[in-house]
Amino acid sequence: MKIDALTLFPDMFDAVMSESMMWKAREKGLLDFRVHDIRDYAEDKHRKVDDSPYGGGGGMLLKPDVLVRAIEAVKAEGDALVILLSPQGRVLTHQLADELAQRSRLLLVCGRYEGVDERAIELAIDDEISIGDYVLTGGELAALVLIDAVVRLIPGVLGAEGAQHRDSHADGLLEGPHYTRPPDYRGLGVPAVLTSGHHAEVDRWRRQQALKRTWERRPELLAAAALSEEDRVYLEQLKAESSD
Ligand code: SAM
Repeated sequence: MKIDALTLFPDMFDAVMSESMMWKAREKGLLDFRVHDIRDYAEDKHRKVDDSPYGGGGGMLLKPDVLVRAIEAVKAEGDALVILLSPQGRVLTHQLADELAQRSRLLLVCGRYEGVDERAIELAIDDEISIGDYVLTGGELAALVLIDAVVRLIPGVLGAEGAQHRDSHADGLLEGPHYTRPPDYRGLGVPAVLTSGHHAEVDRWRRQQALKRTWERRPELLAAAALSEEDRVYLEQLKAESSD
């Protein structure tokens, strides 16, 4: 997969993209990541990238000519799905990350200031994605969140085979609790089933814990999750126990 990012602050990408899984993905050749400075596409001598909004109101906007030129220059190297990080976009979920992980090339555009001239969006943006209902000062952190969420779903990026398919949200549920050594920590033990060696029992326990946790913390997710008859029976049992 190839991901390009257009930003006014290219250095913000260095630390995240040079460490841990993102770096491993790049080293393994599973991710080709490049960052481009929007300012390189300004044509005047002051390298101006922003201007004040028509109608007043304060703040500055990224100029459409500079931004569209930058997007077209990157796309000239190969077509890409152009995504503007925006608090007004559709909200990033596991399902959306999975959809994006199937793409061969993404171009992420990071806004700043009051945002972006609307004509640049009309002319050059394919999709707008938000990382949540709050406002950041710029799109760089949002782009990094999106990159991390997408790249970890590319086959071969994570070490443990299929681990990402068991994570919270992958199948519409939250994941249940995990335990590691020591077996007793400050008087708290480990559920006996996890040390029983019965793999089928462990799987059953994990499924039930995922159902329980989702029901307790995010019950609205259950409506869209794929549930078996056994899952439904277990949930009914939970509900009956809680109303006792
Ligand atoms: N005036 C804009 C509005 O009210 O919709 C907000 C602009 S924000 C201060 C500057 C830039 O940060 C945006 O253009 C966008 O690229 C990025 N940004 C802010 N919040 C975001 C979010 N929740 N998700 C994705 N990008 C965000």
